[in-house]
Amino acid sequence: MEKKKLNIAIIGYGGMGSWHVRTLSHMNDANLCGIWDIDPDRREAAAADGIHVYGSQQELLDDLTVEAITIATPNDTHLPIALAAMGAGKHVICEKPVALNSNELTQMVNCSRERGVLFTVHQNRRWDEDYLIVKKLYDQQTMGKVFNIESRVHGSRGIPSDWRNQKEHGGGMVLDWGVHLLDQMNMMLGRRKPRSVFAQLTNVTNEGVDDGFRAIFQFDHQLTFLAEVGTSNFISMPRWYIQGENGTAVIHDWELNGEIVMVSDWEKRDAVPVVTAAGLTKTMAPRTDETVKKYPLPEVHSDIGDFYRNVRACIHEGAQLLVGPEEVMEVMYIMEAIFRSAEQNCVVYL
Ligand code: NAD
Repeated sequence: MEKKKLNIAIIGYGGMGSWHVRTLSHMNDANLCGIWDIDPDRREAAAADGIHVYGSQQELLDDLTVEAITIATPNDTHLPIALAAMGAGKHVICEKPVALNSNELTQMVNCSRERGVLFTVHQNRRWDEDYLIVKKLYDQQTMGKVFNIESRVHGSRGIPSDWRNQKEHGGGMVLDWGVHLLDQMNMMLGRRKPRSVFAQLTNVTNEGVDDGFRAIFQFDHQLTFLAEVGTSNFISMPRWYIQGENGTAVIHDWELNGEIVMVSDWEKRDAVPVVTAAGLTKTMAPRTDETVKKYPLPEVHSDIGDFYRNVRACIHEGAQLLVGPEEVMEVMYIMEAIFRSAEQNCVVYL
């Protein structure tokens, strides 16, 4: 029997709104009813793309055929649009970061409960293959007990000069990219709560909002996790660096270049000292080939279409939501702890 499609409309037809339109157009599970954007140029662009354009947000919300709404507008507008949409009885898929703080998010979650509608967040980077590779290495403990994970995204273009560099619109890299890295951390580690975080924000190219940050989390059992976003990095550090007791893995870039290096013989400890101009060291001498083995990264496969397939299945068939509000709230608390730590220049206990 053919599945009933989800009737969906999109508010905000900018960069990400048009991504949602493209994604939905390749899927059999959803039917795009139309879009609304406050910018006449973007409405014109949508019409030129053959998309139905509503005359106002209210007209879109009044359309009884629309079951769900995706919100793809600047971060500070998510709360009022989500409340209006849920108030009109629509299910809501909100872009990340879902809101500016936990207070706003609480209002959204309460509204979805009161109205009995689904509320989820587009944490699409749970489907990124670099993340899934690291999650697999962590889950399978391929390199022995993992004691350190470093997750970085580095660019060199500064912060975009749109609403993302303005505090009142919810700009800044903690909210923009941090939310992805922290959601990945939370899900990879089984939603374990960190014991503490120490964070620093950067303002290299922008005074109004953070244009990067570094946060070091301490978990129980001697596991540390570093999350770092930089926008003034003309040489990028690896996307992922993972240390287990018996080996190290690295993923250099989005193309998934990387490798695993594992010890093959702990007993062969003899090292030829490295001699530098001013001294020598055995401790830091590189390993010789016969004491280590190199392995390729494991293969993983993912399909971002699963995000909307899950939303449809939740609404029409009562399936379990993949991105639940509780997880989103956990990440929101973590981001608030990052801001507190950076502001007070101290370790924050969670
Ligand atoms: P954008 O500036 O390209 O587009 C935003 C659009 O929203 C614009 O067309 C603007 O006219 C419209 N808009 C603003 N206020 C509105 C309102 N009140 N009602 C209707 N339309 C309104 O921004 P973007 O890059 O598309 O980002 C939008 C959202 O998507 C942000 O929350 C951002 O964080 C998120 N985003 C997510 C990802 C991801 O990978 N999940 C990637 C990029 C952006």
